[in-house]
Amino acid sequence: MIERLAVPTPFPVGKVNCYLVAAEPVTLIDCGANTPEARRQLIHEFSRRGMTVSDLEQIIITHAHPDHVGLAGWLAEQSGAAVYMHRHERDKICGNLDNKEELVALLRQVGVPEDIIVGLELYFERDRKHIVPLPDCKELEHGNKLSIAGKEFTVLHTPGHSRGHICLYHEGEGIIFSGDTLLEHISPNPVIEMDKQNRIPSLPCYLQSLTELKKLSIVRVFPGHGSPFYNAAAVMDELIKHHEKRKRQLAGIIEQCSPVTAYDLVQHLYQGLSEINTFLAVSEVLGHVDLLLNEGQVTARKDKQGLEVYVPRKKAS
Ligand SMILES: [Zn+2]
Ligand SMILES: [Zn+2]
Repeated sequence: MIERLAVPTPFPVGKVNCYLVAAEPVTLIDCGANTPEARRQLIHEFSRRGMTVSDLEQIIITHAHPDHVGLAGWLAEQSGAAVYMHRHERDKICGNLDNKEELVALLRQVGVPEDIIVGLELYFERDRKHIVPLPDCKELEHGNKLSIAGKEFTVLHTPGHSRGHICLYHEGEGIIFSGDTLLEHISPNPVIEMDKQNRIPSLPCYLQSLTELKKLSIVRVFPGHGSPFYNAAAVMDELIKHHEKRKRQLAGIIEQCSPVTAYDLVQHLYQGLSEINTFLAVSEVLGHVDLLLNEGQVTARKDKQGLEVYVPRKKAS
């Protein structure tokens, strides 16, 4: 009843999973990026089931990254289907797509050089083409219920990889559509997001989401990328261990090299990153810095140039 369509994307992650439920209401969970290849494949997948994309009745978006939301506007236009997503994601897609000012200010503040910021701005500009404008959509909140394949699924708000990320959980069967919150072989990036001038602590939010998911009895995961899997508990434990290890590694670097910016920390860990990978690495490093700040192991302060730098707590005074 639930069919996985692995749709090509132009991104390094490879294909994205869109889940088609051909029963009433005809549903698609996630849509693929706006590329001719993805459109062609969706058209083909519907037609080989004796359907067209205009048969869609509901479109549910786990989060507003282009590989998941890109074609929602096109599919909604073709079908008149209702599009559902969390309000924090809706704001990114149906609201002000262009607002990267606060993010750019933050990147400067954490030491990212100007040439990389210029490259990133161009990347974000190009990336917008992977999303078809969507004038409006229906908002989802944690706890809402949606009917999928004749079953009642509960909306779980799982912020971290994206502020308004949702999973869809069917308690009776232990099925979860996890978007990019749970992937079997990839550690989801805690992507930096701003709430006006304030940075959202994406990684602490993500780890909290994992803590909540661990309380559920999950049997089978339908992820945003890769094959469905059954070992959700082991995958979550591995992710938690990975972040714990990375956090300790960063604490060591801060101990040795302080004061350091987030960009300095990225350079300690990686070499020769592209602009977008630098952004993702800064996201990850800031996530671990957030954990260390919360634990009181490090403190943040401004240096003479106004950059945010981190020092071990004992050196702070
Ligand atoms: Zn994503
Ligand atoms: Zn994704």
